Amino acid sequence: MIPLTEQAHAVLRAALEPGDVVIDATVGNGHDTLFLATCVGPQGQVFGFDVQSQAIEQTQLRLQAAGAAQVRLHLRDHAEMAAVIPQADHGRVAAVMFNLGYLPGGEKTLVTRTETTLAAIKAAFELLEPAGLLTVIAYPGHPGGREETEALTAFFHQLSATNARVRQIPARENSVTAPQLFVVTRSIMA
Ligand code: SAH
Repeated sequence: MIPLTEQAHAVLRAALEPGDVVIDATVGNGHDTLFLATCVGPQGQVFGFDVQSQAIEQTQLRLQAAGAAQVRLHLRDHAEMAAVIPQADHGRVAAVMFNLGYLPGGEKTLVTRTETTLAAIKAAFELLEPAGLLTVIAYPGHPGGREETEALTAFFHQLSATNARVRQIPARENSVTAPQLFVVTRSIMA
């Protein structure tokens, strides 16, 4: 089984183009941030969000070392992303990535929470361009993660009835605790 993080990267690598505007909603250790910067190239723009200064600082160093100058990191709740992304980019964001749960090696009490996650995902969806992509990895196996994953499943189900195509890929079959990757494509007409 290919790790969900790699599956998310494969989807985005095939879709993103140099010059695109993209968002990493959960910067964490910065792997996805740097991946996105590589996809959109120096003409592109990456916005990153995290509520832990440790995550932002370490990722800043990682990006500097890689020479990725097209990234703006924000020490801010991703539920507030619409206020941070320039108005001119609303409706023209090519992709938003979420990797929920806690930062590996970091503070385990600082997990994403259902309420802010849902608010952030709704905001992210609104920022997308037509055919724009949202990737979300959710972890039902940790405390609070089950509720968060169920809330997302319900929300995406609702979205798929009207203005999105949604794929849900489990890390393992027949397991209630297996991480889940959601790949959401905004409809052209939405
Ligand atoms: N569990 C994943 C990594 C998740 S990292 C894995 O195994 O790879 C999740 C990141 O989201 C953490 O760095 C955490 O600080 C951040 N985060 C939590 N709540 C947030 C919020 N409301 N806004 C922005 N970032 C948040």
